[in-house]
Amino acid sequence: MNLTQVTAQRAMRDAPVQAFTLVERLVKRPLFGCQMCGHCILQDTAFICPMACPKGLRDGPCGGTDIYGMCETDPTLPCVWLRIYERAERLGRMDRLMKLQDDLDWRGQGTSSWLTLIKRVVGRNGRLSEAERTAP
Ligand code: SF4
Repeated sequence: MNLTQVTAQRAMRDAPVQAFTLVERLVKRPLFGCQMCGHCILQDTAFICPMACPKGLRDGPCGGTDIYGMCETDPTLPCVWLRIYERAERLGRMDRLMKLQDDLDWRGQGTSSWLTLIKRVVGRNGRLSEAERTAP
């Protein structure tokens, strides 16, 4: 098999995953500003993507906001975590917000979190956890 055939074979093999990833990107980018971190926690952050935080904080605010709730890194932005907190309170999802998040594995950047979720659920014979039942 020559290099062209190997490349073509690899492209065919990866096409479904790439198509799935593209669909996730096309749906979640306009809706949530998704940056395809590969490990979605929207269900725990009142459906506001925490990756919009300029510091990339996924487990709560840094505490550096000014008295108006504006970000210390980019004072033109309201603190993402303040928005998350206010919406979680409005939606009655404060219990979710208190959940400690795992560190983000940056190797998953650009991959589909939906695929990861599907693989995990299939591995458990289709049983969803409580958090997965409400994942977007
Ligand atoms: S996959 Fe990551 S970047 Fe995309 S919405 Fe979920 S938390 Fe945000």
